[in-house]
Amino acid sequence: MRCLFCKKISTGSTSVEHIVPESLGNKSHTLRPGIVCDTCNNYFARKVERPFLEHESIEMLRFKQSVESKKGKVPPAKGLLNFKYPVTARKYTKGGLAGTVEVATDEALEEIMNRKDSMIIFPDEVPLPSGSIVSRFLAKVALEVLAQRLANHPDGLEYLVDEEQFDLIRNHARKGETAEWPFHVRQIYDENKSWLSKNGQSIQLMFEYDILVTKENEWYFVLVLFGTEFTINYGAPEIEGYLSWLKENDNESPLYKGKNAEKMNNIPDINE
Ligand SMILES: [Zn+2]
Repeated sequence: MRCLFCKKISTGSTSVEHIVPESLGNKSHTLRPGIVCDTCNNYFARKVERPFLEHESIEMLRFKQSVESKKGKVPPAKGLLNFKYPVTARKYTKGGLAGTVEVATDEALEEIMNRKDSMIIFPDEVPLPSGSIVSRFLAKVALEVLAQRLANHPDGLEYLVDEEQFDLIRNHARKGETAEWPFHVRQIYDENKSWLSKNGQSIQLMFEYDILVTKENEWYFVLVLFGTEFTINYGAPEIEGYLSWLKENDNESPLYKGKNAEKMNNIPDINE
């Protein structure tokens, strides 16, 4: 067996690769050991996933949505107490949701003690990460989703490792080659949106993804994290084909087109 990213022999690797990091709420979307070798698995955790997960806007998202990290912790968030005092807020999810607020000065502490209507304001619009922090993260997830789909096909993984048309995106993810790899990002639904599951429960979708193949036979990977859609081209550092596709499809998301259209029609928007 060879590794999807470095192509070296990976037999004997023991790490399970999480396609989307566990710290974004993924428990079950994984690749068996060896599809990504231990060295690449470790590299991605430190150099590709961590910079994305620790970006201010992603940490704020994880805080607001109480998404636990692998170690069961929600990252803290910086906010302003009564529009004046900087504070750090922490959430605890064990045994029900609870929180604490750390203040830096006695003045702020006094304010909390004396004002019953104290409130903490968190920045509303933290710009999303940009550049190679995102594109390398997307490139990694994109290839792993292909591997996930091909994993049970006898020659599928061999094909993926050997196919040269994936070398560009492979080396962007693993080595940072092709410094700039444009991608598309937009919000397609509110991060708090609830969906109704089949058994009538209200659920929140943390992430969802799919592969779009356009009629020009360009392949795009589409990842939605709490309503924010990220799209990257598998074949080349270009996004024009996706922009054309959007134009032809009334700006719908590929995740909610065609085979998924039913999902869109059948799930009432219970926020409205
Ligand atoms: Zn490797």
